[in-house]
Amino acid sequence: MTAHLEIISAQKNYKNFKAVDNVHLSINKGEFVTILGPSGSGKTTLLKLIAGFESLNNGAILLDGQEITKKKAYDRNIGMVFQNYALFPHMTIFDNIAYPLQLRKVPKQEIKEQVYKALQMVRLEGFDSRFPSQLSGGQQQRVALARAIVFNPPLLLLDEPLGALDKNLRQQMQFEIKHIQEKLGITTVNVTHDQEEALTMSDRICVMNHGRVEQMDTPERLYNCPQSKFVSSFIGEINWFHGEIIHSESGLSIVKLLNGQVVRMKAEQTLKENSAVLIAIRPENIHVVHEGSAYTHKYHVKVMGKTYIGDSFRVEAMTDTNERISIKLPYAATKEMAVGDQLEVGWNTADASLIPDDEAKNDAVS
Ligand code: ATP
Repeated sequence: MTAHLEIISAQKNYKNFKAVDNVHLSINKGEFVTILGPSGSGKTTLLKLIAGFESLNNGAILLDGQEITKKKAYDRNIGMVFQNYALFPHMTIFDNIAYPLQLRKVPKQEIKEQVYKALQMVRLEGFDSRFPSQLSGGQQQRVALARAIVFNPPLLLLDEPLGALDKNLRQQMQFEIKHIQEKLGITTVNVTHDQEEALTMSDRICVMNHGRVEQMDTPERLYNCPQSKFVSSFIGEINWFHGEIIHSESGLSIVKLLNGQVVRMKAEQTLKENSAVLIAIRPENIHVVHEGSAYTHKYHVKVMGKTYIGDSFRVEAMTDTNERISIKLPYAATKEMAVGDQLEVGWNTADASLIPDDEAKNDAVS
């Protein structure tokens, strides 16, 4: 499949600072991709490069196979929604939504039809003669969305569109935007630093850090198979067991852990012998060992504390090798548990990921 939106070696510098550093992205038609990353990681800059509000220092951008790198923003014909709505306050909702069509010199009757269709799409029929100040935040954001899609753009860019809304409304709007996006089949690039929003809305997520792409993957793979320390800790909670590569060949690595255990794990990346690595495991994939339970690896740990987290308990524990871990357990498993208790916990290599410990000095295991 050829990509609908292709970003090739994109580079954006502000003086000597690389805000976007050698980014490659290939997005398919109809895909919903979220650019996720901490503040300052280059998300908005990348979106501005796609929109044409900033120009590249290096690289190229292709839309539908056509190079748009040097095209002016207006000529790119892309729909955009920003966090602060950017509605025209002195215009009615009808006129706000009609504006992109008027710019494109669409005949009056067609404008009317398209605006009412867009209003229906965002469930705001009957609001056409109001002004933006007479709408709630969620309704204003729906108008912004209607204005962005009314001219049938090939690409929709969303820059933290739900950032100003409270949690419940944000979740409802996530669902609505996703529904409209799927119905229209419009290729969409969304920017957020909200992990939950990225996981629930996206076909794929591009995790950025320091202007670079750390990993571009489906939400499931990002959560279950993170490829770097940064990605493993940025999305969800994670435990790390430190180790060292003993041997690595044809996708299989043999790792010696701090407690001397040897683990055989699939590795998607080439890892050097003797290099420091981490075995990353989600809290829900570490279990209390009972008679007869089979786990590939078992640990003795000491309970340091437990916290109620709504649907379960988070138990903090310390291994014999002083690695602090967090385990998610159901209420029944923690009822009798007290600080200072010794526990045996187990996990399976199939539930863990092997990643390089890029912050280590490569002397983790003696
Ligand atoms: P946030 O989540 O806080 O919006 P972001 O990931 O969207 O962050 P960007 O706005 O893309 O980050 O900024 C990336 C880096 O580039 C930041 O360090 C920022 O200070 C810098 N930067 C952005 N625009 C400019 C500019 N016009 N001039 C100089 N530096 C800039």
